[in-house]
Amino acid sequence: MVPLVILPVEREFLALIEEAETLPVLLRSLAGQGKPDMMDGDDLPEATLRRLEAWAVPEYRGALRLIRHADVAFAAEVLVRALVEFYAQVAWIHEGPTGDSRSQATRAACLELGIASEANEALTKKLSGWGTADPRVHEAAIQRLTDIQAIHAATGCRCSGQKWQVQPILKQADAGGIQWPYGLWVISSAAAHQLLPGRVEVDLGDGTSDFLSIAHYAWRAALLEYVMRAFGLAGVRILDMINPAHAETLRVWIERFVTDQRMVDASHEKFDHVAMEQMNVVRAGLHERAGQPPSG
Ligand SMILES: [Zn+2]
Repeated sequence: MVPLVILPVEREFLALIEEAETLPVLLRSLAGQGKPDMMDGDDLPEATLRRLEAWAVPEYRGALRLIRHADVAFAAEVLVRALVEFYAQVAWIHEGPTGDSRSQATRAACLELGIASEANEALTKKLSGWGTADPRVHEAAIQRLTDIQAIHAATGCRCSGQKWQVQPILKQADAGGIQWPYGLWVISSAAAHQLLPGRVEVDLGDGTSDFLSIAHYAWRAALLEYVMRAFGLAGVRILDMINPAHAETLRVWIERFVTDQRMVDASHEKFDHVAMEQMNVVRAGLHERAGQPPSG
């Protein structure tokens, strides 16, 4: 039996993840600075942003936990898609479609209406043959729709709710020079649709291939950067809407993180090479010990 050894390079990588784990708390504290509490009222767009963020935080944290473990890190790519969708919804409230004259508060109401409408559509049609749901679920969904219809009508907007499809706003950002979200959405969608089995396949060079059982550091670092950018830059847009004085602080923090020398080394395969060297040292140590007479 080979004893389980945590290589120094693995410790270094885990330290990076620990830093990344502080991001949601940082976002909350920046959002709350100079205010009694962050986004705790009913005002739009704060209430909507708070609801979107509350769902995105466990996705972000969940992605980091996956990246922490090399055997399941690949699966984080599916959560990358979820986080890009979060980014897109926030971006839609933040800037809206080109030429849109609605306020951020109104667009938040439009998105809420779209979400509530979709929930009702799903319950009444798509899930109708799925079994008997608790009738209270239906009642709550109808109540939510009625409430949000009133809030939306009060804004003066006549739309029927913002659809949840994120492609238009991502393409708009892409055309405007912010290209990473759309590209990342396309790739992570392919992963979610089971179109990327090649991610874990390696060409052995002799006409055969094999499958990776663990993700390399270079890939784990790339995933770490993706989840950081998607969640973090959505956070920057949230701050820009509710506490703009602190948006730049968060943007700088994210930029510093993704350009950290350890991140650069990990994504350029330096960590993978160092891991091999450290593993060889461990192996040599084990052989040496095995060659010695047992002590005592
Ligand atoms: Zn509307």
